[in-house]
Amino acid sequence: MTTHMQTIARGGQWLIEEAAEPVFTPERLTEEHKLIRQTAEEFVAAEVLPALDRLEQKDWTLARALVKRSGDLGLLGTDVPEAYGGVELDKVSSIVVGEAVGRSASFATTFGAQTGLAVTPLLCFGTEDQKQRYLPGLVTGDIVGAYALSESGSGSDALGAKARAVRQPDGTFLLSGEKMWITNGGFADLFIVFAKVDGEHFTAFLIERSFPGVSSGQEEHKLGLHGSSTTPLVMQEVQVPAANVLGDVGRGHKVAFNVLNYGRFKLAAMCSGGARGAVAEAAGYAAQRRQFGQPIATFGAIRHKLAEIAIREYAVEAMLYRTAGLIDGTLQGSHESGAMLSALEEFAIEASILKVAASEMLDFVLDENVQIHGGNGFVKDYPAERHYRDARVNRIFEGTNEINRLLVPGMLARRAVKGGLPLIAAARKIQDELLSPAPAEQPGDGPLEQERRTIAGMKKVALMVLGTAMQTYGDTLGDEQEVLSGAADIIIDVYAAESAVLRAAQAAGGLHAEAAAVIVNDAAGRVEIAARNALAAMADGDTRRTLLAALRRVMKPAPVNTVALRRRIADAVAGQKRYPF
Ligand SMILES: Cc1cc2nc3c(=O)[nH]c(=O)nc-3n(C[C@H](O)[C@H](O)[C@H](O)COP(=O)(O)OP(=O)(O)OC[C@H]3O[C@@H](n4cnc5c(N)ncnc54)[C@H](O)[C@@H]3O)c2cc1C
Repeated sequence: MTTHMQTIARGGQWLIEEAAEPVFTPERLTEEHKLIRQTAEEFVAAEVLPALDRLEQKDWTLARALVKRSGDLGLLGTDVPEAYGGVELDKVSSIVVGEAVGRSASFATTFGAQTGLAVTPLLCFGTEDQKQRYLPGLVTGDIVGAYALSESGSGSDALGAKARAVRQPDGTFLLSGEKMWITNGGFADLFIVFAKVDGEHFTAFLIERSFPGVSSGQEEHKLGLHGSSTTPLVMQEVQVPAANVLGDVGRGHKVAFNVLNYGRFKLAAMCSGGARGAVAEAAGYAAQRRQFGQPIATFGAIRHKLAEIAIREYAVEAMLYRTAGLIDGTLQGSHESGAMLSALEEFAIEASILKVAASEMLDFVLDENVQIHGGNGFVKDYPAERHYRDARVNRIFEGTNEINRLLVPGMLARRAVKGGLPLIAAARKIQDELLSPAPAEQPGDGPLEQERRTIAGMKKVALMVLGTAMQTYGDTLGDEQEVLSGAADIIIDVYAAESAVLRAAQAAGGLHAEAAAVIVNDAAGRVEIAARNALAAMADGDTRRTLLAALRRVMKPAPVNTVALRRRIADAVAGQKRYPF
């Protein structure tokens, strides 16, 4: 199945060009997508949510049974070709499933480790023999998978791993080391483990729990996700057959980083699903909780929150489905390893953007959900406190948000230098344009026209900041983390705002247009501040004055009555007691 997106796009292209329309949006889900969504949602509501308390008591037999049930329903094999037992669907389907599972964070983590972190590396890097041996079991849920990259001394610096694999004369490897914080560690059967061959060549291995010398440490005592297993993984002189090297010796970084690209994209889907559920929870509570003789949902301060949490989720959802459409457009229905790998690499920038935006959006939404619940939000009688604790780790795993922020402008700059993205030429053009006299404005009058102009301005600012940073710092750009992080925030806001506007335009206005108008308005404010700080750090004297004058010229969005817009969205959230899009 494809999503009818025939345009082949390049990752990051949207930053330098006007977006190619149409983009994929949640409103374009096919009947088949809706059916998968319904299956996944019903499974989570009927079988996973009622099991949460038992999962939190570390009932891993139950966790395994739920993984197996997901397999029976076809939810574990959406990305997997039929030849290995999968259902071979498009990436939109994977997003739809991820969102549904995201309602239950602990199980979503178990599920994500299985589908994102264990299945993906086999799909992209496995030999035919490895795929035949492991994929069918992972897809049915008879085999539970885990991904063991981190160590106590190397998390973000994953290539600094100390685990060692020593090549033996018979071609096997003796692998020793200790991995930390391994999701599904307490009950997984198969581990994708990263170790350095002969202390040097970073390599991925497929290691079965049954191999002598493999053991799991104690469960970690965590802030949240109590229903997800997290343990160390200890390997003492484990003999690994040569046939269990995944990918090439010395190319483990390709496995590690490409898997994380897809993991980040799927994590964003789970965050999106979690947020949708929380909007409904907040709206339901606000409708029934009375203070001063009336439901708290009638108070402007609470209505503002109800609108805002829905609006922020709208932007993430728009980015998520747009990106899924871009990947599907690139894959054109192919499930071949090489095609999947190059699509994941192509949209690595968008995956990092989504990971940061979705995890931070979810934390915001869940914090406001606690706040709307008042004292009840702080006690265990209501699910709001569990959600709040469970979500915090999303900003830490799958690459911390700091690392993902640095990756966004870093990858763009690398592509520009390699010539894959004509970013340098675009940045120069923008700089010349901004430094010459202002042309007369030609305001259009179509729907969302003002927002489109603001986004065009935001793109110019993003290119001005990135282009100036590349010129100013050259090869040492990577050392300028504050500027890079600021540039990332601008780029994330551009992608979010544009995705929201494109989605709203395709949905033909109404509440969609109101959400998009708020998103663009607020993004423009943040972009201006971030750009001012970054430009001021890069230049002084006359150059600084010129750059800041150019920024003022391009960032002058017309005033928008966001109070009125949010009120209308709040009416919909409170009225429907759910996420209204
Ligand atoms: C519940 C849970 C489940 C997990 N599951 C898995 C799993 O299944 N498999 C697995 O392999 N790992 C897993 N992890 C580990 C997780 O991926 C790491 O914790 C994460 O990558 C961060 O590494 P760290 O904890 O060593 O933090 P550090 O790398 O020590 O980072 C600490 C802080 O410093 C910042 N920082 C680090 N380096 C830089 C830099 N160069 N520039 C700027 N800032 C920097 C970070 O952003 C962070 O804010 C899990 C962790 C948890 C908590």
